[in-house]
Parts: sequence; structure tokens; C-alpha cells
Amino acid sequence: MSEEQRSIPVLYLVVPCYNEEEVVEKSARVLGDKLHRLMGAHKIAAGSKVMFVNDGSKDQTLRLLHQIAAGNPLYAVVSLAGNFGHQSAILAGMMTARTAADVVVTIDADLQQDIEALDRFLECYMAGSEVVYGVRNDRHSDGAFKKGTATLYYKLMHLLGSRVITNHADYRLMSRKALDALAEYRETNLFLRGLIPTMGFPSDVVYFDVKAREAGHSKYTLGKMMTLALDGITSMSVRPLRMISVLGFIVFLFSCVMGVISLVDWVRGNNVPGYTTTMIVSLLIGGITLLSLGIMGEYIGKIYMETKQRPRYIIDTVVWKKDDQKEEQ
Ligand code: UDP
Ligand code: MG
Repeated sequence: MSEEQRSIPVLYLVVPCYNEEEVVEKSARVLGDKLHRLMGAHKIAAGSKVMFVNDGSKDQTLRLLHQIAAGNPLYAVVSLAGNFGHQSAILAGMMTARTAADVVVTIDADLQQDIEALDRFLECYMAGSEVVYGVRNDRHSDGAFKKGTATLYYKLMHLLGSRVITNHADYRLMSRKALDALAEYRETNLFLRGLIPTMGFPSDVVYFDVKAREAGHSKYTLGKMMTLALDGITSMSVRPLRMISVLGFIVFLFSCVMGVISLVDWVRGNNVPGYTTTMIVSLLIGGITLLSLGIMGEYIGKIYMETKQRPRYIIDTVVWKKDDQKEEQ
């Protein structure tokens, strides 16, 4: 609990959209309706909004978003100059919203995450949490492949020392204080789920049910998912590099033993052909060397990208009517 009583916050829902023309109108209706109900129940203040972030959609998403926001101050639209990816899109939304919002909740456009959990998010905030993580109850709506890979991935992340919260995607509340702290992190390789738990604010967890996508199909292709997974590991942990050193040491010990054995054999005149052994050893060492080079390459690539200090997103246009504080519903 915080010492002083918190006042009812202005809430911004940040909703990333990439080619979501099938679902975006329904999302706007459902999310807008939820905001009205929360305002009616005095759980959030007037001036709360749904802020869509168009992540370089190639379909009608942006046109629909502009239609939705036209003349309705409940909605704001931040449009990025291109497709910067989910993590950058929500960062762009959060960084834009923090100038006006007391709390920001990031939520997907496809309405898979249960919006009724918002009440509990807000309760945790009122009780003093700066960050509230939405954690999914089950994975019924996912296929066996996604379920399996996700479980394996969280195990691996924990093994590598990352503090990601199992089954927490990016359905999360952050207070302005937490957002201001997040703004201090300058890294290009953004993995918010891993980064935010390391900031160390009082936080809480809210469990929610995941539904099937309202419409359209997943915008996370296997490629995008693997990039996120790799980014997650390499941006949060250098343990793979340490593992290379350990592996290198073990192989070195092994080759010393093999060297002594071969020398002894040579001295004794046992020059057996030894084709199999030679093959196995050289293949093994070749494989390990290449793998190690690959892992090191991953990190060097990351260093290269970070040194460029490129912007993580570029905002093209913003439609946002800020001065509607008196408007009540
Ligand atoms: N998304 C985005 N940029 C991308 C890919 C996805 O902004 O490059 C958005 C997408 O519109 C959705 C959210 O990120 O609102 C989650 O994507 P999706 O539902 O396709 O992922 P899944 O739920 O299948 O993991
Ligand atoms: Mg989804």
C-alpha cells in the first residue's frame, strides 16, 4: 500500500494494430464501451481514451482508425511511418500516452485478452502497484505447437536468468512513474516483458482468460515469433556466451586426453587407421566452433545495432484530441 490515497486515474488503452481491418471496428466499440462503463463506475477519470497505434498496416486499418477517431475524442490514433513490430508499436503508444495518462494498459487489437480484467488491474494500481501484469490462465485457445514452444521458451528464459513472468504477454498496466522510468532505457533490442520486471517497482499479477481471436488471423508469423524469442534471450542474458567458454574448456580438456592417447599409441607403434575417431572428433569440433561463432555473431549483431542508436519507432501522424477533460459520459 502506498501512503497517500491515489486519485482516480486517467487511463489510456494502448492498442497496437497491424493489418487488423477485420477486427478494428469491433475492438473500438468493445474497448470504448468498457471505458464508458469504467468512467460510469468512477474507476477511471474523464479524459481516458483508447489510443490505437497503427504499425504500418498495409490494409484499410488506418483509414478505419481515422474514421473511428473522427469527431470522437474517446479515440486517438498514432500512426507509425512503417512496420516497426509489436514491441516498438506499444512503446510508441506508451511514450505518447504518458504525457496525458496516469496509467496505461497495453492490449492487443484482437480482443483475445479479457477486458473485464481491467477492473482488477485498476484495483491493484489503487492499492499501490506501479506495474500490473496480466497472466493468462490457460492456453486452450492456442494450438499444440504454440503451447509447447511457449512452455519450452519460458523454461529456457528462466534457465538463462531472465525474470520474465510465465504466460504474461503484453497485457499490462503501467503507471506514469513506471513509464517515465521505462523512457530512460535506450536499447534498440526491445523485449518489454523481460525488461519491465527488472525495473523493480511494486507490482502485482492479475489472471485472465484468453479467448480466440475475434476476427482475422495472427499477425505473429513464425519468423516474427522466433525473432522475438531470440531478442528476448540475447537482450536479457549473456549466459549463452558464458556457455561457449565452458564448452570450449570441456572440448579443450577432451582434446588433451585424446592427444595423450594418440601420442602413447604412436610411441607404442599402434598406428591404427582410426578413421571413425578422426571423423567424429573433427565433425564435433567443427560443429561446436560454428555454433559458437553463430552465438557470438548474434551478440555482435546486437552490439552493432545498438551502437547505431537508431530511433525505435518513427511517428508519422497523430490524431489526438487532448483537451476534453470536461467531457463526461
Ligand atoms: N502487431 C503489431 N505489429 C506487428 C505484429 C503484430 O502491432 O508487426 C499487433 C497485432 O495487430 C495485435 C498484437 O500485435 O494487436 C498481437 O498480435 P497477434 O494477435 O497477431 O499475436 P498472437 O496473439 O497471435 O500472438
Ligand atoms: Mg492475438
